[in-house]
Amino acid sequence: MQTTEQLIRNVVQQVLAELNGQPGSGAAHGDCGCHSKANACGCHRGRFGVFDNVDDAVAAATDAFEQLSERSLEERKRIIDHIRRISIEQCVELGTMEMEETKIGRLAHKIEKLKTLGEHTPGVEFMRSEVFSGDHGLAVIEHAPFGVIGVITPVTHSLPTITGNAVSMIASGNTLVVNPHPSGKRVAVEGVRRFNQAIYRDLGIDNLICLLAEPTLESADALFNHRGVKLICVTGGPAVAKAALQSSKRAIVAGPGNPPVVVDETADLDRAARCIIQGAAYDNNLLCIAEKEVFVVAEVFDRMLAAMEKAGAVRLSAREIDALTAKAITSVGEGQHKHDVAHKDFIGQDAAVLAAAIGKQISPQVELIFGETDEHNPFVPVEQMMPFLPFVRVKDVDEAIEKAKYYEHGFRHTSMIHSNNVRNMTRMGRAMDTTLFVKNGPCMASLGLGGEGYLSFSIATPTGEGVTTPLTFTRERRCSLIDDLRILGK
Ligand code: NAD
Repeated sequence: MQTTEQLIRNVVQQVLAELNGQPGSGAAHGDCGCHSKANACGCHRGRFGVFDNVDDAVAAATDAFEQLSERSLEERKRIIDHIRRISIEQCVELGTMEMEETKIGRLAHKIEKLKTLGEHTPGVEFMRSEVFSGDHGLAVIEHAPFGVIGVITPVTHSLPTITGNAVSMIASGNTLVVNPHPSGKRVAVEGVRRFNQAIYRDLGIDNLICLLAEPTLESADALFNHRGVKLICVTGGPAVAKAALQSSKRAIVAGPGNPPVVVDETADLDRAARCIIQGAAYDNNLLCIAEKEVFVVAEVFDRMLAAMEKAGAVRLSAREIDALTAKAITSVGEGQHKHDVAHKDFIGQDAAVLAAAIGKQISPQVELIFGETDEHNPFVPVEQMMPFLPFVRVKDVDEAIEKAKYYEHGFRHTSMIHSNNVRNMTRMGRAMDTTLFVKNGPCMASLGLGGEGYLSFSIATPTGEGVTTPLTFTRERRCSLIDDLRILGK
């Protein structure tokens, strides 16, 4: 039986062989009628979305878009059902591949994320039209696709983000070209190949989801500036968010966060502890919405920390926190641009690995370590993406909200409160002005996982579209009929 490492190696060799023109499992070429040139016969059929340059990828996605435009909504749904089915049925294999390649997060959650996105990403059922009916007839507003979307995905959820983006973007009639994070490219290649193969076999359209097999910053830049790309959607940290916001094209930007949690004196502390652990420990704190720092009012601070221990988290002493901070936080940049960041060796590692780095042995089953810090500890301002959570003691809820707002850095991404005082909830909701605001639940409840609402792993924060759906990737078109077809009489 092949190990996952061997499996990934074989897949990459097969892909590279096909890219180099050797026979692979591609379909027969020459009879598809597409307009662009890439294979010797003049089409991109049989590439199953995997490309080694931006021009070919965009040309193939453009052909695929034209073919998709001829198909019905029912066929779009069938296309999406293949992506969903593969994400769900093959979640163990693909999730394991992602874990082995990226080496961050938790295997069970890598697997679960694929299944969850396959099951819950908004599809064609989210498409709708609006109608104005009046004395002068009818105006129908429909939501049309943009065309080819340039997509950037993060290492924290490489294939899950592609899965979610592909479902929503194809649901609204678009095709996509993905520049994945280089450290998650192999699982991205494999997932995209499987999606395209299944779609091609059933519906005869290839390359609805195209991907650069060797992504670089240069290929991302070429994608941003390609005239065939009509819209950009990036999911990632500050650098890529800034690059997308500065691009000349319309961009939907799912940017970074540093979600704070407030716990006031009215909170159910045991429930708060369970929720904080569930959210902050998920995939070792890699979620952009995950709890990153906690402000607790003094009156219940010690009891809150006791509740965290009771719920299974392990508390570090002040000396242990100092030791962890020295190892897990580093600084980058020069002069006024110098700032703290999480050390990449610790991002997404297990709590037991973090603890071992400071000479502390804890069970591998422990999901989260935590401890008291002051607000100046770098774990408070930094988006740590590792399962250590700083708890800061504050005088009262006003100070908690004020500090939560300050350390969220104006990302307007996600914030949480545990409270039974609706005034405090309201005050914090207004002050934070975040895209997601969760009361008495873990972060993921805001994406319909244990709460109401729907799911996406691209939450557009600086550009304001929020939790993306198929409609996010559409342009409005209005169709007016003058003076007729209002059938309601005078
Ligand atoms: P990252 O910023 O290092 O990389 C994200 C992607 O951007 C990668 O594909 C990378 O190659 C690319 N990239 C980086 N700099 C670029 C530049 N200057 N030009 C073009 N492309 C560039 O982030 P990551 O570590 O992969 O992911 C974690 C980050 O993503 C966190 O900050 C997290 O909050 C954020 N995130 C946000 C959401 C959301 O929905 N808002 C979802 C997931 C992750």
